[in-house]
Amino acid sequence: MSGGPKRPIKDRIAGFLRDLKPFLRDEQIIVDRDGMSHFCYDATELRFMPDVVLLPTSTAQVSEIMRLSYAHDVAVTPQGGRTGLSGGALPVNGGAVLSLVRMNRIIEIDRKNMQIVVEPGVIASDLQEALKAYNLFFPPDPSSTVESTLGGNVAENAGYTRAVKYGVTRDYVLGLEVVLPGGEVVNAGGHTVKNVTGYDLVALMVGSEGTLGIVTKIICKILPKPAFRRTLVFYLDDLIGAADLVVAIFEGGITPCAIEFMDKTSIGCVSDYLAGTEVLRKDAEVMVLIEVDGNHEAATHEEAERVLLLGRKMAGVIEARLTSDDGEAERFWRIRRETLPALKSLGKDHLEADVVVPRYRLPYLARAIKEAAAGKKVNVATYGHAGDGNLHVTIQYRKRNFAELQEANELLVDIYRKTVDMEGKLTGEHGVGITVRDYLKVQMTPEEIGLMKRIKQAFDPKGLLNPGKIFPEGP
Ligand SMILES: Cc1cc2nc3c(=O)[nH]c(=O)nc-3n(C[C@H](O)[C@H](O)[C@H](O)COP(=O)(O)OP(=O)(O)OC[C@H]3O[C@@H](n4cnc5c(N)ncnc54)[C@H](O)[C@@H]3O)c2cc1C
Repeated sequence: MSGGPKRPIKDRIAGFLRDLKPFLRDEQIIVDRDGMSHFCYDATELRFMPDVVLLPTSTAQVSEIMRLSYAHDVAVTPQGGRTGLSGGALPVNGGAVLSLVRMNRIIEIDRKNMQIVVEPGVIASDLQEALKAYNLFFPPDPSSTVESTLGGNVAENAGYTRAVKYGVTRDYVLGLEVVLPGGEVVNAGGHTVKNVTGYDLVALMVGSEGTLGIVTKIICKILPKPAFRRTLVFYLDDLIGAADLVVAIFEGGITPCAIEFMDKTSIGCVSDYLAGTEVLRKDAEVMVLIEVDGNHEAATHEEAERVLLLGRKMAGVIEARLTSDDGEAERFWRIRRETLPALKSLGKDHLEADVVVPRYRLPYLARAIKEAAAGKKVNVATYGHAGDGNLHVTIQYRKRNFAELQEANELLVDIYRKTVDMEGKLTGEHGVGITVRDYLKVQMTPEEIGLMKRIKQAFDPKGLLNPGKIFPEGP
């Protein structure tokens, strides 16, 4: 932090806004509480009111905002679609919210080089729609696709169901334009698929949760859309059977594009929440959804048949079948996408974990969590990306019930410890933000946390960009 006492926040904000006036139109600056209330929450449902919301439409405007925030010591929190599940987009220290939603142009679809150039506020599903016209696709497409932005997905290194075969967001980003705290505009990477010129700043920026710079332009690889897909449904009466099923598929030389997992509690909850879920079996301990894809119909079908045969031989499998057509497959994928909204709809308070372990261990972790929760008053649901070892856990407790809140917190710490014991990591795709930051030391040594803090300091010496995120205390 720079020395000397700071002026009161009101004066700093007033000076900041006065100096910003020449660069932004009035309607790009929101200071009334009603207008700002839309920007004070994300999918964590926590709320923090900023002092001002800014809606830039160009890199030049973002640069002025960052330059002046440094001149006036005003904290800035970047924000995309506000679907984040770790609170990264929340202005926990007040200051300015910098919403990128108006920088939402698809600048280029370059079919010759199979690349796209987009602004950060492009909504993920809008990009998919635009690419569909050319039979192309951008694989990273999280379940929040109709609301999350490309900038948010880059900042969180978002995962998605098809990451098993196609990899996560980081695997597709070739270049970024970034505005640094202080206002400098830099480019990391670019349009080439290879680049080892100096440090890999793209890899560093992707997943940095808006703490190192503001992403204002994104260059990504795209792929031809696979022409054929088949979805399979497996029900098992035993969690561990799911581990063996997944391993048998990979050992059989098959890489499905998606392998998803829902436990009995999740299945029951979605059944009550969505219409059209009669297809679900509620007596099973676990459902595993598998998708294979390819460009040749017969080969794709044959691969699906092989998965089916493998699955039918596995212990614990009580039903295994191919979905009859695309309509039925989509019904199952919708059920999977709606799991989190269904769990949230129960109206209870909840804690979320997004832990990740080596793939084979996921069902073991799910079982250990279930055993740890047995006899407790809190309700626990597990679901997630079995093909990636990424398990989402929702711990529900009754609102304002202190004993249950305490139980939920203890269980969360226990889940983190079990995860680390299984050589896992605290978060696979939702990020640290504010919800995981106090648990970092369960996984990382002081030296590892210290190195990350020094990187943060090199980018943001005043600690004004997205303060309070990732690290337990300031920079
Ligand atoms: C129903 C539901 C389903 C979900 N499914 C998935 C899933 O399948 N996979 C997955 O990974 N996540 C999922 N999520 C979590 C969430 O959608 C992702 O983390 C997503 O990437 C957040 O994007 P956003 O635009 O909403 O970002 P926000 O929530 O607005 O912000 C997220 C982070 O990105 C930073 N940020 C945003 N824009 C920029 C920018 N331009 N420059 C720098 N930093 C920026 C913010 O400061 C914040 O730290 C889901 C959430 C919900 C509610």
